[in-house]
Amino acid sequence: MSVSGGAAGCSPTGRQRFAPGRRDPAYAEVMGAPENAPPGSVPPRGAPLVAVLSGAGISTDSGIPDYRGPQGLWRRDPEAEKLVTYDCYMSDPGIRRRSWRMRGESPVWRARPNVAHAAVARLERSGVPVRVITQNVDGLHQAAGLPDRKVLELHGNSRTVVCTACGARSTMERALERVAAGEEDPACEECGGILKSATVMFGQRLDPDVLAEAVAVAKACEVFVAVGTSLQVRPAASLAGLAAESGARLVIVNAEPTPYDPLADEVLREPIGEALPKLLARLAPSGAEG
Ligand SMILES: [Zn+2]
Repeated sequence: MSVSGGAAGCSPTGRQRFAPGRRDPAYAEVMGAPENAPPGSVPPRGAPLVAVLSGAGISTDSGIPDYRGPQGLWRRDPEAEKLVTYDCYMSDPGIRRRSWRMRGESPVWRARPNVAHAAVARLERSGVPVRVITQNVDGLHQAAGLPDRKVLELHGNSRTVVCTACGARSTMERALERVAAGEEDPACEECGGILKSATVMFGQRLDPDVLAEAVAVAKACEVFVAVGTSLQVRPAASLAGLAAESGARLVIVNAEPTPYDPLADEVLREPIGEALPKLLARLAPSGAEG
């Protein structure tokens, strides 16, 4: 293994590459139509599907700072950004050692879902079809009780580790145990390859299947709630526009103005922990537990 870092050759781009992916293959799955159903048999838009697009703002009450947003640490500090830039991570063992230390200290492991995550899970339990599209990697929607399959993680999940060589997946918990036991840059136990968190780093494209399903959800939903996101980073931002163009009611819950406010049917500026539970209770069947 080379001793010197390859950092000279790596340059954080600060931009998420956008991969449009296949357009509609997940549509039928989203809407519960049988596989291979002819297009006409897919339930039309207007089925009462609620999409919730969540950004960093929904998790700040759980103690997780916004690293990744336009004003986040990773955009303001080029050294920090290298830690989450794929080329830098792959070429520089020093960057990887720092990344593993940073992961070990992450506030994510101690974070608990807050009232906003709980409100989304409650809406799903009330019988309303719900899909969450999230820019977060903290797993807090699932921790609040949403089934995994109803959460589309655009940027991956920090609780899983993936091998960049063979694709083997394992838990972050196991990897961090190895780091704590003295391995500064733990290698894949299957093939010896470089391990990384199963999150989408800068310079990596989004998972085309996840993105395609998010697009299908945006087109199919009746209500699209964007919460805690500045709607300035694609492709998440464009999903809000797509939903509105497709006839969904667009509701934005965010402290700051977003570029999509003019398209929205409703804009809520109250703190997320107050606004979201009230909003989602209105969407639940009457009589359901509020
Ligand atoms: Zn491997």
